[in-house]
Amino acid sequence: MIEAGSKPSDFIREIIKEDLANNKYGGRVHSRFPPEPNGYLHIGHAKSICLNFGIAAEFGGLCNLRFDDTNPIKEEVEYVESIKTDVRWLGFDWQDRLFYASDYFEQFYEYAVQLIKAGKAYVCDLSADEIKEYRGTLTKPGRNSPYRNRSVEENLDLFDKMKAVEFEDGSRTLRAKIDMASGNINMRDPVIYRILRATHHRTGDKWCIYPMYDFAHCISDSIEGITHSICTLEFEDHRPLYDWFLDELEIYHPQQIEFARLNLSRTVLSKRKLIQLVEEGYVSGWDDPRMPTIAGVRRRGYTPESIRIFCNRIGVAKRESLVDLALLEYCLREDLNKQVPRVMAVLRPLRVVIDNYPENLVEELEAVNNPEDPGMGTRKVPFSRVIYIEQEDFREDPPKKYFRLAPGREVRLRYAYFIKCVSLVKDKQTGEVIELHCTYDPATRGGDSPDGRKVKATLHWVSAAHAIEAEVRLYDHLFVKENPGDEEEGRDFKSFLNPKSLEILTSCRVEPGLAGAAPGSRYQFERLGYFCVDSVDSFDGALVFNRTVTLRDTWVKIEKAQIK
Ligand code: ATP
Ligand code: MG
Repeated sequence: MIEAGSKPSDFIREIIKEDLANNKYGGRVHSRFPPEPNGYLHIGHAKSICLNFGIAAEFGGLCNLRFDDTNPIKEEVEYVESIKTDVRWLGFDWQDRLFYASDYFEQFYEYAVQLIKAGKAYVCDLSADEIKEYRGTLTKPGRNSPYRNRSVEENLDLFDKMKAVEFEDGSRTLRAKIDMASGNINMRDPVIYRILRATHHRTGDKWCIYPMYDFAHCISDSIEGITHSICTLEFEDHRPLYDWFLDELEIYHPQQIEFARLNLSRTVLSKRKLIQLVEEGYVSGWDDPRMPTIAGVRRRGYTPESIRIFCNRIGVAKRESLVDLALLEYCLREDLNKQVPRVMAVLRPLRVVIDNYPENLVEELEAVNNPEDPGMGTRKVPFSRVIYIEQEDFREDPPKKYFRLAPGREVRLRYAYFIKCVSLVKDKQTGEVIELHCTYDPATRGGDSPDGRKVKATLHWVSAAHAIEAEVRLYDHLFVKENPGDEEEGRDFKSFLNPKSLEILTSCRVEPGLAGAAPGSRYQFERLGYFCVDSVDSFDGALVFNRTVTLRDTWVKIEKAQIK
């Protein structure tokens, strides 16, 4: 792990330094981020984005954004747009280098023809199931397809007809002619093209044959002059194929380097799984603030800086690991603490009447915006006879070590006065405490007593007559299991969803200065956590706040309590 701000160093950067020293690509560094537009980006993608764009920036190179859009069935324009928004929001710029694999369809086709002419590819009539059966297993070699020895002329003719919509979907494929006995199953005559009558989001109905990932990816890298093609470990076994295609085609050859993908505790980082949560209604959408998507954490109030700092801290390695979500939240708190103004808000209000405070008096008290940064100044907060405090800041029978308000006890109101609880009012039916009566000491204005008297607690509050009502959404981890992606007990990952991941509070009160707070603006609610104005559901006059993160990691505390 490396510290924020310091320059990252890892095995990929070492490889690049060596390549630069050896003038391997004429001193160039050119990377790319190649998402498939079949879902929204998540924090795992952020790791790849920070790595690819980060390396380009550090070594004076370039980084392309390339949509790997070779599968027309699962891809949509909505995803393309969301990905562009998210990469930009994270703070990266592809300048004029926005590419689509679909831009190269013609070129892919010509390279496929070149392979056929070289006797390195053939049209195969086996069905998908038969191909699978012929492929063999890890311990058993595969068998040659009966169509493997077709002549070049026949293959060219059949491939041309595949393209000309003359055959049924799935009835034929174009396959690379490599080695059905290879120890690497990816090398057992992999499919290069399939027939698929599907409308592509960019090329429409122009094509009815589509290239497979392994074929399209290395050629796209080659066309764009990529030097270091960085991808996740699951592609390690595909590297021989990446190299084979480029060698056989005798075209420019980038090098593929694999690193371990990010796994985060208490969430899932897989588009296939995230799409289920969206489509089956477990969350409100891709941007639900509980989702680990970039759109979700943005709506929740995360800053792009905090994600970049996190990605630098976790570093890049060759071995899979599970990173604790607490580390991401730590990076977030550190960043927010410096830049976000503090305000007072009461989530579960308890009415307090200060009996000896003048009936019609309103005082404007001075409050500090951020004690970490005096430059952020101060503001005025109104104080009056009736205020709200947090229900949990009062106990009728305080347990040991509970120092907040209780009958007969004195506490400090932040920026205001000492108050002492003299009596309480209960709901006749439920017995619940609904109102406190207190007295205040006018000599303690500003929060200190001239006689040196001490109190053990400082509470936040809002003036009842001035506060604005707001809705506050409290989020907790989406999953109760440490690693919900680990389904080995035979249970579906969704069975580990946290039923308490969202709590909505509708009669919260916030200080009047927050009237008209702009969507997306962030605050620290004193003693409660960091919150941001929801960018979808909040309106002037009907404020909605999302809790971005608590002030401390309460989860760690809960877990410790459970272990005891
Ligand atoms: P998912 O597994 O979520 O479906 P994917 O790998 O299919 O993701 P792509 O759109 O192909 O999604 O990913 C684009 C790039 O992001 C790839 O280079 C991929 O290796 C990288 N990437 C995806 N998930 C992670 C992750 N968890 N950590 C780091 N990099 C990732
Ligand atoms: Mg992928």
